[in-house]
Amino acid sequence: MYMYVDVLDARPKLSEHHKILFDDKKISIPWEEGKTSHFQHLWIRDHCQCPECFHPDTKQRLLNTFSIPNHVRPESVEATETGMQISWKNGHKSFFTWEWLHLHSYNPRLERYLSPQFKLWGSEITECPPEVEYESVMETEKGVAEWTRKIYIYGFCYINGVPVNPDATKALIERIAHIQHTHYGGFWSFTSDLASKDTAYTSLPLSAHTDTTYFSSPAGLQLFHLLSHTGGTGGQTLLVDGFRAAKLLRDEDPTSYRILSNTRIPAHSSGNNGISIQPYAPFPVLNHHPVNGELFQVRWNNDDRATMDRWNDPDEVEAFYDAIRSWNEVLKRRESEYWEQLVPGKALIFDNWRVLHGRAAFDGSRTMCGAYVSRDDFMSRFMMTNSKREDVLRAL
Ligand SMILES: [Zn+2]
Repeated sequence: MYMYVDVLDARPKLSEHHKILFDDKKISIPWEEGKTSHFQHLWIRDHCQCPECFHPDTKQRLLNTFSIPNHVRPESVEATETGMQISWKNGHKSFFTWEWLHLHSYNPRLERYLSPQFKLWGSEITECPPEVEYESVMETEKGVAEWTRKIYIYGFCYINGVPVNPDATKALIERIAHIQHTHYGGFWSFTSDLASKDTAYTSLPLSAHTDTTYFSSPAGLQLFHLLSHTGGTGGQTLLVDGFRAAKLLRDEDPTSYRILSNTRIPAHSSGNNGISIQPYAPFPVLNHHPVNGELFQVRWNNDDRATMDRWNDPDEVEAFYDAIRSWNEVLKRRESEYWEQLVPGKALIFDNWRVLHGRAAFDGSRTMCGAYVSRDDFMSRFMMTNSKREDVLRAL
């Protein structure tokens, strides 16, 4: 489930033909697979896993790193059945399992990167959208595991059988994590009523966008629950898989893909009196993982885009407009758009780092409620319900 796994499916084994060696600087561990891992003494001493150096419960370092002499050196190194035992010159003993050493080998890196198993979707998802039952999520950890797994894989999930009231909806989202508060508050519930002529909560259509592009770290998940819709029709919810749209753009128009990956777009939220939220720096539409290069976040809200008055070269302006026009065209294709009429009792949750949302115009009076959960809190819940705790912590 996590990003990195050990290269070996079986337990890593020491070579039978070569021995562990160490010199003044490093320890060299020859593996059965033919590679040799080198660990500098200073590094290996700093990562001692013994309960004096590493707290077994908090998983935090207890060792004072700065007490280690620069030229620290083992007195002896011994291979046992399960791992490597080091006796240091001052008498301290360290033990590392073969699994730990193999997983954390940095010279060379031995781990293999596994791409997350995302399922990309278009309008056809309407036939079989991911869903879970309210009761199962509320009553079992297995239910939460299934729910968070579906959100991770598809970027969204329905919850059926939700009692039609704000309290039950709030309890539902809190099964993942505490609610992420913003300048709009925490859990929200409001009625859009044309009769009130309140333009703040209008009934106008909204094209596909992600929320909070003006945060340094945008809201992670968003949940919607339609509590009632009376005296009118419309208001269907629109979802677009941003990862699928990005893939299409990359295949069909790589120049635009590159521009959307590199052009930083300023954004802000300043409509509320006394508030102007801005990220610490502008971010591109398509954000890639700094280590593995994969797309991990889509930020797109054309309405919240601030004035773009910083260009390396003024000729970039036209190219940028070409790129967002091309992106907009992919997003608005019939096969990119998945429309669904939400109904009371069926809540929707989606990954705001991947899935864009919007809605059709409506008339009458609608009451919706919902909330955000931060991305880090979601990922923690997802990993800990879908993997053994030891397996998650092992990779730290
Ligand atoms: Zn120790």
